[in-house]
Amino acid sequence: MPDTITLTIPKQKNIALIAHDGKKQQLIQWCKENEKILRKHFLCGTGTTARMICDATGLPVRGYNSGPLGGDQQIGAKIVEGRIDFVIFFSDPLTAAPHDPDVKALMRIAQVYDIPFANNKATADFLIRSTYMDEEYDHDVINFKQNIAHRAETLEDAE
Ligand code: PGA
Repeated sequence: MPDTITLTIPKQKNIALIAHDGKKQQLIQWCKENEKILRKHFLCGTGTTARMICDATGLPVRGYNSGPLGGDQQIGAKIVEGRIDFVIFFSDPLTAAPHDPDVKALMRIAQVYDIPFANNKATADFLIRSTYMDEEYDHDVINFKQNIAHRAETLEDAE
């Protein structure tokens, strides 16, 4: 069991919104239905998704690069930095995407950092109605500093 550190997901969350092309309309509709709740948080997303949500709802959504051009990786990096703490990602399980490795990497890093992650509408509905949406949430994640110290020590000993 690795050493952990307690981090806090704040009351006002940093939410990333992402949808594959076949799911964009569904995510836009979901954002319209949940606009009042979403407005209380900080929103960002991959480029096209962010622009389309912004155009359709008026919600301020900070856009990163488009997904196939590295947007998913940018969002993954922000999770590592502690600057994104909640992800809604309507992925399309029936269409092959060129950036599938990036999508897998994002899902993996969200798992490593114990980030709430909805990959379909039902999960997003349950998450957005959680009482934690209006509260801070403490969770334990891997203590990355200690992890480095431990890895360096054991790998040096093995030399
Ligand atoms: P997009 O990227 O919002 O720029 O379309 C989403 C994705 O396909 O990961």
